[in-house]
Amino acid sequence: MQFLLDHLESLEDWLAERGQRTFRARQIHQWLFHQRATSFAEMTDLPLALRDELSSHFMLDSVSIARHQQSPDGTEKLLLQLADGNHVECVLLRDGARRSICVSSQVGCAMGCVFCASGLDGVERNLTTGEIVGQMLLLQRQLPAEERLSHIVMMGMGEPLANLNHVLPALDWASRPEGLGISPRRITISTVGLPQAIDRLAAENCRYNLAVSLHAAHDELRNRLVPVNERIGIKSLLDAADRYFEVSGRRLTFEYVLLAGVNDSVQDAQRLAKLLKGKCQLLNVIPYNPVAGLSWRTPSPSAVSAFRDVLVKAGIEIKFRQRKGDQIDAACGQLRRLQQSRPAKLHDLTKPNIG
Ligand code: SAH
Repeated sequence: MQFLLDHLESLEDWLAERGQRTFRARQIHQWLFHQRATSFAEMTDLPLALRDELSSHFMLDSVSIARHQQSPDGTEKLLLQLADGNHVECVLLRDGARRSICVSSQVGCAMGCVFCASGLDGVERNLTTGEIVGQMLLLQRQLPAEERLSHIVMMGMGEPLANLNHVLPALDWASRPEGLGISPRRITISTVGLPQAIDRLAAENCRYNLAVSLHAAHDELRNRLVPVNERIGIKSLLDAADRYFEVSGRRLTFEYVLLAGVNDSVQDAQRLAKLLKGKCQLLNVIPYNPVAGLSWRTPSPSAVSAFRDVLVKAGIEIKFRQRKGDQIDAACGQLRRLQQSRPAKLHDLTKPNIG
């Protein structure tokens, strides 16, 4: 059995081989992306025989909810089970009229950032296009019918630039009108910073926003926090980011996770200001979200504000990421680890776990 979401691109051919008209593909897309259908039986404007044939060839979706946590501020965090038993996480955030989703690109992660829960056990595999689109559709279904998804960030588990062959087709379905119809300006790819892959994005004329996870202003510190930096270096990363900006015209964001006593001093802020002067369009500072079993700490409010003052004085546009969903604030990757360390009891799987 195959998953329909992995065959969206070839659906017209599949239909043509069965003597069906190609507009049937558009009808199916409409049911999936706009009507939020969860079964072929719902697709009532398709001939019954075609619905039966689709059901015997394809499963609609390759992801299902294993755990669902809801915070009073409207944030929902879902642990999803994939067909092979692996798990990934994704998040729905509500902020005013915004309905943003944070989506995973891999099971685990190979980048090894020392503070991050997702990569603690390395990478298991890339997600398929269908599994990435499946997260989007499942999150969309959490919204009432009159609400639409407005923003997507590829900031869940995994390194999206290490899985571009599946991430790009998935984002294509997110942005095209017969898909979710979300403007590329509202789609952000977050990366540890792989220059070759950034150049590929530029060469393919990508129109998505790029967020680069910097976390340190000099190589000695970045090598410690983000081990892949050893074979890249900050300079070639910033050069690649510049090239992407030139081609795409999209605002660049740099992300900086603040770790107490590690990269949060006034001197760190000064080095960062110097590095990003004239280059940076937005610096997104994220106070560390503690991970069970790791000893990194969140900086004190006074350290955070001293850090901010230096950058503001230097004229860097800076945003501090709001802590959303505090009650369910396991950093991305933690829910999955919890699941792995405690084999799921079936009756437990969909119970909300608030607080
Ligand atoms: N691999 C991509 C996307 C994944 S995570 C990347 O590196 O950008 C998205 C962001 O969350 C990254 O900046 C990552 O470093 C950060 N992050 C990971 N663990 C975190 C934690 N425990 N607290 C705060 N930010 C974290």
